[in-house]
Amino acid sequence: MTDDQPQRSPTPGTPHVERGGEDSTGPGSWSYETTAVQSAIPRGLGQTIGIPIHAAAAFQFETLEEAQEEFQNNTGLSYARLQNPTVRALEARVSALEGGAATVAVASGQAATLTAILSVCRAGDHVVSASSLFGGTTGMLSNILPLMGIRATLVENTPQAVRAAMQDNTRLVWAEMISNPAGDIADIEPLAQIAHEHGALLAIDNTCGGVGFLCRPLEHGADIVSQSLTKWAGGHGSVLGGSVTVGTHQELGRLPVFTEGGTNSVLHLRGDAALAWRQRWLGAHQLGMTLAPHSAFLIAQGLETLPLRLSRESESALALARWLQVHPAVGQVSYPGLPEHPFHAQAQRYLRGGFGAVLTFEVPDPAAFLSRLRVLRIAPNLGDVRSLVVHPWTTTHGRVPEAARHAAGVTPQTIRMSVGVEALADLQADIQGALSV
Ligand SMILES: *Cc1c(COP(=O)(O)O)cnc(C)c1O
Repeated sequence: MTDDQPQRSPTPGTPHVERGGEDSTGPGSWSYETTAVQSAIPRGLGQTIGIPIHAAAAFQFETLEEAQEEFQNNTGLSYARLQNPTVRALEARVSALEGGAATVAVASGQAATLTAILSVCRAGDHVVSASSLFGGTTGMLSNILPLMGIRATLVENTPQAVRAAMQDNTRLVWAEMISNPAGDIADIEPLAQIAHEHGALLAIDNTCGGVGFLCRPLEHGADIVSQSLTKWAGGHGSVLGGSVTVGTHQELGRLPVFTEGGTNSVLHLRGDAALAWRQRWLGAHQLGMTLAPHSAFLIAQGLETLPLRLSRESESALALARWLQVHPAVGQVSYPGLPEHPFHAQAQRYLRGGFGAVLTFEVPDPAAFLSRLRVLRIAPNLGDVRSLVVHPWTTTHGRVPEAARHAAGVTPQTIRMSVGVEALADLQADIQGALSV
């Protein structure tokens, strides 16, 4: 199966899409913004302008030979748990935006995390992860994967700490591109080097990197990009989804899931597409974490405005961080775009077009502050067009041990904000009103 060339639709944007290129002659040289709206949509008489929804559980064959051929090679369409044209269009778009060779879209970010890890690890294998993680990832690494015999060591988010934790059976290194809420930035290049020296792969959760808009981890040596499409891709708080994207080549020769054992050993059959194929087979076809076509449509449509939204949100987030930093009623402000942030230099190195839409700030009385807001809404989501806030200490991080909460930059006074596209003046006025008694 050539996962990067969806059949029955034209070539999507090819892997290396440059940002802001003026000479846009075709998919290969399209900017991010152009790729976001133009990729994966066929041209031609009577074609829909956007991506059509294929509401289908299965697809027809005309002859037995066709059916047999498809069941052998899986290059076309048979049963929609494996592939659906709407989902494929989204996958082609995500590949183009991340600069990847192939993507499998799944039902949520959690499903993407599980797909990415199980595509590389089996019982007896080991994962090293930066500990500044989304709570669901911490839970999966600490509570669920050990049930399957996969152990994880969570360490400080530095290449030195990751190197020290590597074992003979380490198959995967995991980190978030921009961690939530602390804003740690993964130092991808040395992390990739450490992983590869040990015969392991590097997976980056790029959820807060906005589907390649702020950063493309594959271009810095990562092997796998896993992400929640629920956040900036969907963008409107209306749909759940996730994706796993791989680059053009990975060194799989030292991974037991590929080198040992019967049907799992697809290396010799699929070559450079082996990892992408295993992810699709495992996450969608075998585990059934398939993305619904209606969800794929909403996410693909959301991606069309992602660059507009996330650049605006990043600008507003930086302006709010600077304003809150000197506000007399506000304590610690954390945002990777501020020079004082411990990961600011790394953010400048890896991020383009903004420092992201998430910031945290401390207020004296979080309950009173939240109850007085009239524009910002209290909700545990990120990347919505509307500004959302949470009190991580009692909600998103409520079950995390206290010391780990402090390590993640969360105190009892911390408010996390995902900045939306509202007018900056309205956001400032709302926060000001909620701060003054
Ligand atoms: C939300 C989130 C996830 C999980 O995504 P869902 O779509 O909610 O399953 C994974 N990683 C990060 C960084 C997230 O913010």
